[in-house]
Amino acid sequence: MTLGKYRQKRKFDQTPEPAGGTERESESRAASRFVVQEHHARSRHWDFRLEMEGVLRSWAIPKGPSLDPTAKRLAVLVEDHPLEYGDFGGTIPQGNYGAGVVMVWDRGTYHCLEGDPARALGGGKLTLMLEGEKLRGELHFVRTQRNEGRDWLLFKGKDEFARPDYDAAGTTSVASGRTIDEIRAAG
Ligand code: MN
Repeated sequence: MTLGKYRQKRKFDQTPEPAGGTERESESRAASRFVVQEHHARSRHWDFRLEMEGVLRSWAIPKGPSLDPTAKRLAVLVEDHPLEYGDFGGTIPQGNYGAGVVMVWDRGTYHCLEGDPARALGGGKLTLMLEGEKLRGELHFVRTQRNEGRDWLLFKGKDEFARPDYDAAGTTSVASGRTIDEIRAAG
């Protein structure tokens, strides 16, 4: 996967989203970045992005990630985004792809317990150890056969960071401390 699909969908003279540079070689290091963005577009969802092979591999999660291990959330694999997208929060103007408000909901680093995350993704099973501000500890991504294999399930592992009945909605940006309404009001 490359950034072609990401760029095709957007007019960079109209949206404040980054076009991204060339996909650089992924540095081999222990931890890579993850970011979760709350996105109020036609419908509200959360975009979960993992740094992998020089891009942000991305899933859209209608109900958002949960800290409750019994909450299995649908996560739909979507197009890769540029690494710079991880810092994006703000308003995508009407008439543009994904028009609406984006908040940096969580960010941090991750390790993949299977080893190379790109290989684990190809195998349909990612066991992540996250160090974010909201998401910490073990998180599982498991591919299903639905939607030509683009539908995954996301759920929290049972550890000291698990919280029953957790709801992703109604929290503030880890980048700015603002609520989604405050980001919207700022334009
Ligand atoms: Mn989105």
